Amino acid sequence: MLSCKELVAHSSDYLDAQLSFRERIAVRTHLAICWKCRRFIRQMRLTQAVLRRLPDAAIPELEPLAARLAEQRKAR
Ligand SMILES: [Zn+2]
Repeated sequence: MLSCKELVAHSSDYLDAQLSFRERIAVRTHLAICWKCRRFIRQMRLTQAVLRRLPDAAIPELEPLAARLAEQRKAR
């Protein structure tokens, strides 16, 4: 049985689906009995989802700004 510490160590690989079958079962078994780690994994998943969405949302506004800054630098 995994400890909570081991689960945390495996968590990002688990979320990225990088674990072996055996490791995945160990993580799922731990999650089935440990609500703290379930909450931890849920928060990790949420954070990943937000981070994945951020670049797409940020670039449309950043691009004109970056272009303007590049122009200003050229003008100097
Ligand atoms: Zn745990």
